[in-house]
Amino acid sequence: MRVSVALFTADLRVHDNPVLCAALKDAERVVPLFVVDTGIRRTGFVVPNRAAFLADSLADLDAALRARGGRLVVREGDVVEETCRVAARTGAATVHIAGGVSRYATRRENRLRAELSGAGRELRVHDASLTTVPPGALTPAGKDHFAVFTPYFRRWETFSVRRVLPAPDAVRVPDIRSAGLPRAQSLAPGPTSPALPAGGESEARRTLRSWLAGPLAAYEDRHDDLAADATSRLSPYLHFGCLSPTELLHRARAQDNPGAHAFVRQLAWRDFHHQVLAARPDAADHDYRPRHDRWRHATKDIKAWQEGRTGYPVVDAAMRQLRHEGWMPGRARLLAASFLTKTLYVDWRVGARHFLDLLVDGDIANNQLNWQWVAGTGTDTRPGRVLNPLTQARRFDPHDEYVHRWLPELRPVDAPHSGGDYPAPIVDLASATARFTSARQTATS
Ligand SMILES: Cc1cc2nc3c(=O)[nH]c(=O)nc-3n(C[C@H](O)[C@H](O)[C@H](O)COP(=O)(O)OP(=O)(O)OC[C@H]3O[C@@H](n4cnc5c(N)ncnc54)[C@H](O)[C@@H]3O)c2cc1C
Repeated sequence: MRVSVALFTADLRVHDNPVLCAALKDAERVVPLFVVDTGIRRTGFVVPNRAAFLADSLADLDAALRARGGRLVVREGDVVEETCRVAARTGAATVHIAGGVSRYATRRENRLRAELSGAGRELRVHDASLTTVPPGALTPAGKDHFAVFTPYFRRWETFSVRRVLPAPDAVRVPDIRSAGLPRAQSLAPGPTSPALPAGGESEARRTLRSWLAGPLAAYEDRHDDLAADATSRLSPYLHFGCLSPTELLHRARAQDNPGAHAFVRQLAWRDFHHQVLAARPDAADHDYRPRHDRWRHATKDIKAWQEGRTGYPVVDAAMRQLRHEGWMPGRARLLAASFLTKTLYVDWRVGARHFLDLLVDGDIANNQLNWQWVAGTGTDTRPGRVLNPLTQARRFDPHDEYVHRWLPELRPVDAPHSGGDYPAPIVDLASATARFTSARQTATS
């Protein structure tokens, strides 16, 4: 009897899962495997917020597999060793895995391929699993990746995206031992944000349905309105693969309206950053375009920024939302990141690390490359622009609703839960902008 292994990584779903479908196609029995990887835990990437979301997602995946006659097989240890052990124990000829783009994922893939082939087994990597357009599928003449979004997007729009795969009806698992489903606290002990979203494919599909049924159509007009909370909040489901980006793309495209077009463009940004990281894995922690910055070591300023006490309300509201929800809308991320890297002139890696400590959708490709974009060390074609937090607040929170939601001390005195001390601005905007501009001129001249 032929057996294969479907090794789940960032694709924790049964709908539109190329890895699971291919494993089921080439064998009568499949091991749906998840390895609680001690290697990834050593990198510091597994933090309480994402651990909670992951634990939810694994429990939901197990339930979906059980509803199809199968179950999730869980192991703990080194991902390569455990996968090879499971393959040997079940006599699996092939292991299927989604192609990843981070250094960690590439190394895992290379080690797996070498170990499996040494034992006469095959690794099959499915590149159209985690993004809609596989990284590396589109390249400009003579280059290995696109460094600018607009030409990438033009090509991306014409790419023939694969069809959506149905969820399997049945999954038959061979006789093999499994550890229990991991609990969040054992994955990463520590407090989580009080208003974290629930993880898992079921929740992803509920969020997707309500998003497509209404708010998507208004996305173009409302996505930057901070108080409206009018973005999809699908990012954590995409990060863990509880939702397939390909299915999301097809379903959004089916609504031919300006909201859907604007939303599809955002999905292209996700693919764009993935193809940059795939080609330049060092961009996770090195400047993509070195500007030779001599960043400030400003411990007090960094702490004020992290705690949402800079004296600039819209920045502070964003940072408090991040702590409370493990999430913030894109506009809030942009202005908080610009404030740290340009107004305070602090290294983007400091901010990226803080975001990764809290974001439930914290993602190496999207986080590190967006931080670099904002800091002007990445792919932004206008690296010198500095966002003014006062102008940003006037445009995107004109009635102070967002600010009042997160900063009770600034609510009108007769409002419930108002009052408290609010700090004076920690920096003068005009001199901060001048400091940044002159630092960049000096560094690059
Ligand atoms: C400094 C900074 C850090 C960020 N860190 C992350 C991160 O760790 N993980 C993450 O998923 N996104 C990150 N983003 C991108 C973006 O802000 C979030 O994906 C988005 O705000 C999530 O909310 P949403 O799902 O409601 O997005 P929507 O506005 O509904 O957009 C839909 C989807 O498009 C994708 N998307 C939207 N904007 C971007 C973008 N700029 N880059 C890449 N993909 C995008 C996301 O997958 C998002 O879920 C970051 C942006 C900035 C400026």
